[in-house]
Amino acid sequence: MGAYAYVAPQSVEEVVAILEEHASSGDRAQLLAGGTDLLVQMRTVDREPRTIVDVKKLAETNRLELGGDEIYIGAAIPSAVLFENEELKALLPGLLEASDLIGSTQIQGRATMGGNLCNSSPAGDSIPAMIAVGAICDIGNGSGGRQIPVEDFVTGVGTNVLESGELLLGLKIPRPADNSRDAYLRFIPRTEMDIAVAGAGVSVTIEADGTCSTARVGIGAVAPTALLVPAAADALIGTQLDDDALNAAGEACTAASSPITDKRGTAEYRRKVVAVLCRRAANIAKQRAAGA
Ligand SMILES: Cc1cc2nc3c(=O)[nH]c(=O)nc-3n(C[C@H](O)[C@H](O)[C@H](O)COP(=O)(O)OP(=O)(O)OC[C@H]3O[C@@H](n4cnc5c(N)ncnc54)[C@H](O)[C@@H]3O)c2cc1C
Repeated sequence: MGAYAYVAPQSVEEVVAILEEHASSGDRAQLLAGGTDLLVQMRTVDREPRTIVDVKKLAETNRLELGGDEIYIGAAIPSAVLFENEELKALLPGLLEASDLIGSTQIQGRATMGGNLCNSSPAGDSIPAMIAVGAICDIGNGSGGRQIPVEDFVTGVGTNVLESGELLLGLKIPRPADNSRDAYLRFIPRTEMDIAVAGAGVSVTIEADGTCSTARVGIGAVAPTALLVPAAADALIGTQLDDDALNAAGEACTAASSPITDKRGTAEYRRKVVAVLCRRAANIAKQRAAGA
């Protein structure tokens, strides 16, 4: 039987070496960011010994850069720290709202967007919002790293593309133009601290004449993974985001959904709710883009 251990490496090379050593010896190693999923899982469903590899001490996972073309959000930055950054909030209000919805104030002091994505829950709130803003995963490994769009990162319930010896370093997001903004909405069965019945993130670009020239729509909690819905974006692009366009985008989200029925809602209910959330989020994104 293995043993519990905790290590806090100072470099990506060290993390990769530790992960690879464990993989080759057959011992288990698991990455830790805020621990708000991992520690709960260790107390409830998975108590097996392992080496916990803390990624919070790395420069790369704490990098926050608001460049002229690209925004970089390190995978280990707590939601609370991100939400204090007014420029980031102004540029990516939907993504920041999604991250701010996670848990309570205490949870947000620890929880990270990287952990939300790597936990790979269908209901992870920040994932559809990341998809909506076109976020790319910056993955570290022993061979120069790789990049993959968020919509291709999660492969199933609790699974993702990360291979042995890999970690998520951060998210690369195209800096939105002044006339481009996002919004994220979720629905939960009670007012606080629950997971989504459905969620929708939308980003749009609005031209001077009110026409929507670009759009991306991400939905969550209505399929085994969060989804990019190109048909919903197509329904918005080229329109004034009038009721017909918003309804068509909502219907495209319903059509893309393959939800389950559980204690939070039936599959039929989720299909309807995701359409409503898409319509409302698109409308909020439009107001923001027009006023930005
Ligand atoms: C009370 C409570 C309320 C919550 N409410 C919500 C909610 O409303 N919405 C929601 O979406 N979630 C919610 N959560 C779940 C959780 O807080 C979020 O998923 C959070 O974002 C996880 O981030 P973390 O940094 O704590 O991840 P951790 O728990 O540290 O890690 C999560 C998983 O990702 C892996 N991992 C972490 N970082 C990396 C990395 N850099 N590279 C590769 N793998 C990595 C870990 O090994 C682990 O498997 C809640 C949790 C609690 C306890």
